[in-house]
Amino acid sequence: MKAVQYREVGKAPEVVEVPKPEPGPGQVLLKVTAAGVCHSDIAVMSWPEVPFPLPLTLGHEGAGTVAELGDGVTGVEIGDSVAVYGPWGCGICAMCAQGKENYCLRAGELGIRPPGLGAPGAIAEYMLVDDPRHLVPLGGLDPVANVPLTDAGLTPYHAIKSALPRLLPGGTAVVIGTGGLGHVAIQLLRALSPARVIALDVTEEKLELARRVGAHDAVLSDADAAGKVRELTGGLGAQAVFDFVGAQPTADLAAAVAGTEAEVAIVGIGGGAAKVGFGMLAYDAAVRAPYWGSRAELVEVLDLARAGAINVHVETYGIDDAPLAYERLHEGKINGRAVILPNG
Ligand code: NAD
Ligand code: ZN
Ligand code: ZN
Repeated sequence: MKAVQYREVGKAPEVVEVPKPEPGPGQVLLKVTAAGVCHSDIAVMSWPEVPFPLPLTLGHEGAGTVAELGDGVTGVEIGDSVAVYGPWGCGICAMCAQGKENYCLRAGELGIRPPGLGAPGAIAEYMLVDDPRHLVPLGGLDPVANVPLTDAGLTPYHAIKSALPRLLPGGTAVVIGTGGLGHVAIQLLRALSPARVIALDVTEEKLELARRVGAHDAVLSDADAAGKVRELTGGLGAQAVFDFVGAQPTADLAAAVAGTEAEVAIVGIGGGAAKVGFGMLAYDAAVRAPYWGSRAELVEVLDLARAGAINVHVETYGIDDAPLAYERLHEGKINGRAVILPNG
């Protein structure tokens, strides 16, 4: 079968032929219907070393139809259309017991890694899923339009959910970076809170999408951005700030626009840090660095999509063009999310 692999540190991903995997006991084989392309893969492919063996089949946003069941698998049937919950954990520790496998306490020690980020991923004709508990039925949702919700939906949902009590009528939420995650974040904020949403990005094209998906204001992320956001909030700043870039300039911007008792979530992994200490932030502002989301939250995000509250803006590519999709993402040319269709 064809798979898109990161094969050598510093090299671009390649389309290669690999053996079709066979499900072992307890595993499920999916015929992949759609796989999303996340900026985290670009970050991983820029590291001088990776914490897992190469080659690696990429893709941590996956959806498919159940093709084969390993011995002992129950609860899913051949032909079921499912989304893959990506942050795999041990399934047993205190975090996993709450469905928060993204915060599994033992994944590191046990060498458990998400598909596409250590285990073979979704940008292939078939993918192995270690356990049926990592599958969520799509229940009629189109896999192509909704596969990004497994990360580009779930990650912002998790970040936004805990900030909701701060987002009251008259309040403001700021979204920095309106790409794959950010353009879903805007829709989630509009669906879940009465707050005004101010979006920031670096090109007019991205700001256009931000407005189209519901941002009340869209502002260029330049040296004047913090001042403009302050002005739009009547000098008060925002009650919640979500940084989907996480570079030093955006972490500084996030801190600068946070108002009293704001929640700041640095979601992007651009290596930036918000300074926390008396006088460095508005009074009582809190800074978080969340990671992905829980299984229950994925179910909730898919329910929101089914209710029509969120629509991912997708650009589709065949598997042979997956390297091109990565190139375009790297160049900032994808508007919304690139989705690979490994089976045509
Ligand atoms: P993306 O490339 O689709 O979107 C990033 C957006 O940020 C682009 O629209 C880009 O134009 C914009 N941008 C770049 N520099 C900017 C600046 N200075 N100010 C404002 N906007 C700027 O990427 P994505 O797939 O949405 O991922 C976003 C970030 O989140 C990445 O760093 C990714 O690695 C990270 N991520 C984190 C988690 C987590 O669990 N913490 C999960 C998924 C992705
Ligand atoms: Zn991701
Ligand atoms: Zn665990």
